Amino acid sequence: MSGAGDYYEILCVPRDATQEQIKVAYRQAALKYHPDRNPGDKESEEKFKKASEAYSVLGDPDKRAQYDRYGKVGGAGGGVDWDSAVFDDFGDLLGNLFGFGDLFGRAGGRGGPHRGSDLRYDVEVSLEEVLLGCEKEMEIPHEEPCPKCSGTGAKDGKRSTCGACGGRGSIFYQQGFFTVSRGCPQCSGEGTIAREKCGECGGKGNEYGTKKIKVKIPHGVESGSRLKVPGQGEPGRKGGPRGDLYIFIGVRDHPFFLRDGENLLCRVDISLPEAVMGGEVEIETLDGKLEKVSVPPNTQHGQRFRIAGKGMPRLHHRGRGDLFVEVRLRTPSKISREEKKLWQELLRLEAEKNDKRESFFRKIFKGGD
Ligand SMILES: [Zn+2]
Ligand SMILES: [Zn+2]
Repeated sequence: MSGAGDYYEILCVPRDATQEQIKVAYRQAALKYHPDRNPGDKESEEKFKKASEAYSVLGDPDKRAQYDRYGKVGGAGGGVDWDSAVFDDFGDLLGNLFGFGDLFGRAGGRGGPHRGSDLRYDVEVSLEEVLLGCEKEMEIPHEEPCPKCSGTGAKDGKRSTCGACGGRGSIFYQQGFFTVSRGCPQCSGEGTIAREKCGECGGKGNEYGTKKIKVKIPHGVESGSRLKVPGQGEPGRKGGPRGDLYIFIGVRDHPFFLRDGENLLCRVDISLPEAVMGGEVEIETLDGKLEKVSVPPNTQHGQRFRIAGKGMPRLHHRGRGDLFVEVRLRTPSKISREEKKLWQELLRLEAEKNDKRESFFRKIFKGGD
């Protein structure tokens, strides 16, 4: 996850910071980046917004606990900062891609319906799975509106306007020169309260649990790809739509193949005589098939040979990249008496050749005769 979204990083506090430390850190950030102090400075404004958002979560022990557990928070002021992330377009595979609205615009609509929070799920796949495509079952945290109270949290199914904030969901207080707003503690920013709590869900309105879903991982994905599964995030409030589920893909390293985008690289050892005389090497490709690569005479260490179309599938496109086979010359670690004789002979011939070359260069250097 990019650091931009981590509330602790935003406030520059350790994960085990006390509530007091968080408060102090927020106050410092708020004073430094407050728009009144930095008129027209977009960067400061953004930092101020982020610090406020981080504090709206970390400053509240319940929300903080939820954030620590799930990496995000449901309800008002929650929202993970996805704006800074770059999304791959899997729309054709997984349905529509929604645009990201303004983070604050989305979280700030306290009175009316608002969208549920997005969820993140990390999944690891093997290179073979990337080649063939796969389906992964994942268990995701899940909230359902309580059936007894239809998600209102109230025994009679009706909520009344919160008296503390007058339904705004936030209260304002004076801090030095500034008027600062914070989520209403009475109604947790909802703007409404349940006079009598629902016995089934204890007034929470939602029941928490997990559910299993199956997601098709398209072939050709790369490490760091993000898949969007619309409507599988947390439920919205007051009739708002559900958030989305984002699946972050990590591709495990393969012991034999190295991936470079749509191409694969593998390294094979060949003996010195094979390199000199030429030969053939057999490779088991990622799909388990055997491929022969002919090594021409006088092959050099590190030389690469291409097997077209045996690399990774191309995302969004037909066909596959190439497989590159890099040969490495293996020096014998032990040789027989017979081999030793032959190598000595080679050495002698090599020395002779060098002598000739040297005398040739000597002649040129002296001007020759
Ligand atoms: Zn209130
Ligand atoms: Zn209920």
